[in-house]
Amino acid sequence: MRNERPTSNSQRLAFNNRRLQIERGALTLVAAALLLTGCRRGQPPPVERAWTTMGTVASITLPASQSNQLNQCVSETVDCFQKLDDIISVYVPGSKISEINSSTGMVAVGWQTLLLLQISAEYAAITDGAFDPTIAPLIQTWGFSGGEAPTTLPAADEIASALKQTGYGHMKFEFPSPGAMLAGFDQPGMSVDLGGIAKGYAVDAAHSNLSKHESLSALINLGGNIRSIGSATAERPWRIGVRNPFDGNQLLGSLTLEDGMSVATSGNYERFITLDGKRYAHIIDPRSGYPVQGMAGVTVLSSNATEADAISTALFVVGVEGAPALLAKRPKSQALLVPDRTPIEIWVSPGFEKQFTPLPKYKKSIRTLPGM
Ligand code: AMP
Ligand code: MG
Repeated sequence: MRNERPTSNSQRLAFNNRRLQIERGALTLVAAALLLTGCRRGQPPPVERAWTTMGTVASITLPASQSNQLNQCVSETVDCFQKLDDIISVYVPGSKISEINSSTGMVAVGWQTLLLLQISAEYAAITDGAFDPTIAPLIQTWGFSGGEAPTTLPAADEIASALKQTGYGHMKFEFPSPGAMLAGFDQPGMSVDLGGIAKGYAVDAAHSNLSKHESLSALINLGGNIRSIGSATAERPWRIGVRNPFDGNQLLGSLTLEDGMSVATSGNYERFITLDGKRYAHIIDPRSGYPVQGMAGVTVLSSNATEADAISTALFVVGVEGAPALLAKRPKSQALLVPDRTPIEIWVSPGFEKQFTPLPKYKKSIRTLPGM
């Protein structure tokens, strides 16, 4: 399978562009998220290129005045995402993460894999396990790992036994000799799923690479995990749209992204299964083993994309009730949470509110998170 992968950047772009035609739906969502980056009267709109990678749509947006740098930025970022995907994807059979997941013992890893696993374990600890990278057996039980979706609810004992094979406290790292790094688990049957953090991590990697270009302004987007460099114009910061989780064609409002800031969104509309007429979203509550109920969408604004990604998944789990305590531990993260009920409620932390302009019709739906 890996032999079929394109090897050069131009091959990758052509390959990904073919896949892009198939995935127009996903592209439309991202386009909606970026709707607000452009157009002021009299000013040329920003230039943008999108392609598919890591199972989603990526894009780079540059101000019109820097359009001559688009090809180079896209080519470098295609390469950056592809290299990471080859190491960390659970869907790439030969990746290091796949090797760890199928191995019964410790696996020799490189610094990139080690770093991402350690950062993931750290976010698990920070969020008291609401974000848990060892959630993989439950993702499988609920049919979110790419196989056939279940047609009936998984049995309670199936969920209980998958639950026993999770828990970030079982992640293990060893350094047997200088330069030698091993990763694995201290109990059998465990595996990792980095779907809740890997895209943010990849966006930070691309950000650090593109930041080497002098005076570049850009928006890097990987499946809704976005990080900015510079500003949209000399006078205006980048602005992005925050999607209404109840309607993919509508925005709740727009968000200012100062230089270097990131945004990530977790939504129950992104991936879900429907069983007996009820929707089960792809984010699992690691305490119960069941998909989280009661949340429609969470958007996190943060100083880096890895944090925004991990914290948005964790906030989706802890909900409006648990959000203030978690955000109090992360002063560089701000959030917007929409519970899965009507009429719509838009809960925001004060720092998020400062950067957020709701559409007029949603002004009355804004509430400040309790205790903040
Ligand atoms: P996101 O869209 O960033 O919130 O990530 C959702 C993805 O993270 C899911 O599709 C799973 O691959 C994975 N995931 C689901 N539940 C959790 C959880 N509680 N902690 C960490 N990762 C999770
Ligand atoms: Mg996430």
